[in-house]
Amino acid sequence: MEKEYSEIITANRDETFELGEKLGKEAVAGEVYCLSGDLGAGKTVFSQGFAKGLGIGSDVTSPTFTIMCVYEDGRLPLYHFDMYRLSDGSELEAIGAEEYFYGKGVCLIEWPENIKGYLPEDIIRINIDKDPEKGEEYRNIYITKSKK
Ligand code: ADP
Ligand code: MG
Repeated sequence: MEKEYSEIITANRDETFELGEKLGKEAVAGEVYCLSGDLGAGKTVFSQGFAKGLGIGSDVTSPTFTIMCVYEDGRLPLYHFDMYRLSDGSELEAIGAEEYFYGKGVCLIEWPENIKGYLPEDIIRINIDKDPEKGEEYRNIYITKSKK
């Protein structure tokens, strides 16, 4: 399988939001987006833009305590996960996550490294890195997408 790779630099919150929005507009059912990056990198900002791109009107916040939030008022259902509090994937079985990973909607997963062995094979990876040398608000965003 071929990989499509791109790098984007954002200079502020709004640019990351807009990148999320663009990808949300292009998203297709069954896709799983894994969002990596330190605390405060911008994963939730990206997710909020992504939700808007899907046409979701409700407020998107980090589902840190609930693990997952479902938004069904957009073009496709959005399953937003935050695995921050999980130590491995076994807890996922309890919430039936597999059903969402291979479902009719789009998944956004924050802190995917916490559930490594449980992720689907075909995922889109988005890494958000701060770039303090450039400036406080700069982010380097790397997107790796499998191309069939
Ligand atoms: P995470 O979910 O990765 O922990 P958040 O998205 O909740 O992070 O928070 C990112 C914070 O960084 C927000 O307060 C946002 O305003 C700020 N910020 C500054 N510059 C950027 C940028 N280029 N992209 C995204 N967020 C940024
Ligand atoms: Mg977050």
